[in-house]
Amino acid sequence: MTNITPRTLFEKLWDAHIVRAESAATPAVLYADLHLVHEVTSAQAFTELRERGLRVRAPYRTIATMDHSTPTTFGGFAALPVRDAGTGARFAQVEQLARNCEEFGVPLLALGDDRRGIVHVIGPELGLTQPGMTVVCGDSHTSTHGAFGALAFGIGTSQVAHVLATQCLLQTKPKTLEVRIDGQLSRGVSAKDVILAVCARLGVGGATGHVIEYTGEVIRALSMEERMTVCNMSIEAGARAGMIAPDDTTFEYLEGRPHAARGQAWDAAVATWRTLTIDDGAHFDRTVVIGGNTLAPMITYGTNPGMGMSITDAVPNPDRLDDRSERENAERALRYMGLVAGQPLAGTPVDVVFFGSCTNARISDLRDAASVLRGRHVAAGVRALVVPGSQQVKRQAELEGLDRIFIEAGAEWRESGCSMCIAMNGDQLRPGQLAVSTSNRNFEGRQGTGGRTLLASPLSAAAAAVTGYITDPRTLMEATS
Ligand code: SF4
Repeated sequence: MTNITPRTLFEKLWDAHIVRAESAATPAVLYADLHLVHEVTSAQAFTELRERGLRVRAPYRTIATMDHSTPTTFGGFAALPVRDAGTGARFAQVEQLARNCEEFGVPLLALGDDRRGIVHVIGPELGLTQPGMTVVCGDSHTSTHGAFGALAFGIGTSQVAHVLATQCLLQTKPKTLEVRIDGQLSRGVSAKDVILAVCARLGVGGATGHVIEYTGEVIRALSMEERMTVCNMSIEAGARAGMIAPDDTTFEYLEGRPHAARGQAWDAAVATWRTLTIDDGAHFDRTVVIGGNTLAPMITYGTNPGMGMSITDAVPNPDRLDDRSERENAERALRYMGLVAGQPLAGTPVDVVFFGSCTNARISDLRDAASVLRGRHVAAGVRALVVPGSQQVKRQAELEGLDRIFIEAGAEWRESGCSMCIAMNGDQLRPGQLAVSTSNRNFEGRQGTGGRTLLASPLSAAAAAVTGYITDPRTLMEATS
């Protein structure tokens, strides 16, 4: 009788993609099923290929888009060179990516292509991301794709070159961490609040060296877009990746998407994907359990995503931390943020509200934001920016009239891209400005030098936009229900 050791989902995918096993001297060589490329981390990688006389090994497993540094200020930008409508500045990285893709035969969703958008939004949207795959991209938030039961790693520039040339990457096998969210979420508590609570619980480095597998009743009840929000920020707790085993929700999302199989091939794919479960008795190196019923809308107060709290709480006192360097980090974060331990965050005035990023710029996120903004106006003195995650999200939002809700509320309605998540394209905070952002990182200067960022859900961001200060979104939802 064969004795098969029960495996977690991660272990199944790891085993299925090993080209050469890890040894004491070398990491494992892992095959990459899908390589997503964008203009920022690929430029140097293509240069390396050119200098070494190498070709892209599997262009059919590679796809490029333009997102990190693209302008969001005008429509119809089909032609190169790309210039910002306001400043006339050229977007050199965007132009370089177009030349590199042409030279190396890599398919490109260029400016003007209605399938273009943020790399972690378009992969799932086009059905490129599928269960059981290994997915890599030169962006930390590649963990997003784990929502489909894929093993998805963010990689550095030198690894981008390696994968382009070999379709493989070197990896040391991570440990496994189960994060189980039991119970149910209350009204006004979203997937973003779940992952901010996970980051607060684990701390910014709490999952270092691990792959997180999310389980539990709350996770099972999430839509695919919500699952992507959760997996997206796994990296913020230090995890190499985050994953959710695929189920009917996954298959329903994928069926009919442009790159999904059809007919018998689809049926065969689903039959295979149904085996991508966590085996009974599988062992995780660690397990963390969070009660979904206990969660409230979350917001960050510091300068990493682990510094998060319930929106109704007071800013924690760094003195509670035993570790000296953690205490000093917390004190420095509060100084940078201009906040004082013990002060409630609710009621703090904000300057800017950013709706966007690969964490929260899908259609369900825009619907959430619009549900609060409908019939209301952005508060005087507040700038609100709505940047869809992709051109398809933008088009869908316009079909539903969400753009009119945002515009009539006084918000800016933009083209898709990373925009103020990373502030590479001119969309940025001014020094000292305080922003509520639906993105994923609140590091010092992330949204512009001297800018201060509070991470929150689209509902909480919309509540801040209309009141002009940090507001528990449930108070506004109750007023409209
Ligand atoms: S939206 Fe932000 S985190 Fe996401 S891909 Fe763009 S820069 Fe990276």
